[in-house]
Amino acid sequence: MEKLPTLRAGDASPATDLLQTALSRSGFRTAVDGIFGSKTLSAVRGFQATRGLVQDGVVGYNTWKSLSPYLAGFMLREVAPGDTYYKLAAEYGTKPRAIETANPGIDPERLTVGTELVIPLPFDVTPVNIRWSAAALAICAEGIGARYPFVAWRTYGRSVTGHELLCAEIGAGYGHEVFYNASHHANEWITTPVLVKFLEDYAKAVSAGGEMYGIDAQSLFGKSRLTVAPLVNPDGVELVTGALRSGAYYDKARAIAAEFPGIPFPDGWKANIEGVDPNLQYPANWNRAREIKFAQGFTKPAPRDFVGDAPLTAPESRAVRDLTLAHDFKLTLSYHTQGEVIYWKYLDMEPPLSRELAELFGRISGYTPELTPPDSSFAGYKDWFIEMYDRPGFTIECGLGAPPLQPDKFGKIYLENFGVLATALTANIL
Ligand SMILES: [Zn+2]
Repeated sequence: MEKLPTLRAGDASPATDLLQTALSRSGFRTAVDGIFGSKTLSAVRGFQATRGLVQDGVVGYNTWKSLSPYLAGFMLREVAPGDTYYKLAAEYGTKPRAIETANPGIDPERLTVGTELVIPLPFDVTPVNIRWSAAALAICAEGIGARYPFVAWRTYGRSVTGHELLCAEIGAGYGHEVFYNASHHANEWITTPVLVKFLEDYAKAVSAGGEMYGIDAQSLFGKSRLTVAPLVNPDGVELVTGALRSGAYYDKARAIAAEFPGIPFPDGWKANIEGVDPNLQYPANWNRAREIKFAQGFTKPAPRDFVGDAPLTAPESRAVRDLTLAHDFKLTLSYHTQGEVIYWKYLDMEPPLSRELAELFGRISGYTPELTPPDSSFAGYKDWFIEMYDRPGFTIECGLGAPPLQPDKFGKIYLENFGVLATALTANIL
């Protein structure tokens, strides 16, 4: 289980969002408002009472452990005499098919007493109304991976503070790999649950034989292989959401921000935790990006727009570059906020189908295909991908409003982008 901090009444960190999510799913309804107040306290005590825990209202190791199935969305259960998938499904409120999906290689007609089964619980794993953190992603990875074993999670690198950089792969169409990434920029973290929820919805549709935006999910699964990196910059995201708010890395970031008093802290933070903008780190005219940003005053570590001392010095960008080189991606989507626009071109480079796909994604989402503004035209992931491969790479700027966009914007953004994410899986198969 992911290590979560001990919580007491009065806490208001993103871990409280997870606590309230778990309590609600376990039957102790409480609003997910991120504030550990009296209602949350009585829900914690109620939960502790039903689980035989000390009713101290403090959420430490044992209480988190008992709550963890309600975060990860599954329980482990040993087969007892007389158990069938139908009986277990009725007992846990789930479906026999969900149990079958979660336990490949086990014959439901020949269950052996004592065999450990993964039992999916009757709610989606991905919470969409929380402030995000590395812990939240690790929990989703565990839960989605357990419920849908055909989704393969792995670590593709480490952030500055040592968080695992997680990516997931899904699909059997190895000849057509595509790549979706989100949260290069810290205060654009609303894009992380967009990709995690999409992954879960896709896995669920594959398992249940459903459709994605009117396309048969199993057909998408057979034709493409998707890699998703939903949280490229976990340290920066934790700074913005408040999951990181003390310690040496926090102090250093605060000192960097103090040099730029015009940028709100932490809400204006886009960079990694050392003040390097991870989407100005790719070797695509990096020197030109450096000239532009230096002229704007970003000549040293900053909350945004500092290109670093050289390309690929930020471990988060280097890891995405290495991940890309290890694959053969035919198309990439990079999720950012905001503006409801789609950038599809790099300089005068226009890979085959790029223009048509930008127009298609524009029609699906209601966003406008646009040329990248000159000031942000260099050293981004999309720029590097297009230059390197001459294949379609897109930056999608979701939503409207001042960053960081809050969870109340999630529903609309997900709705606008669901069709793009589903369609892009196979859109450029010729
Ligand atoms: Zn961005």
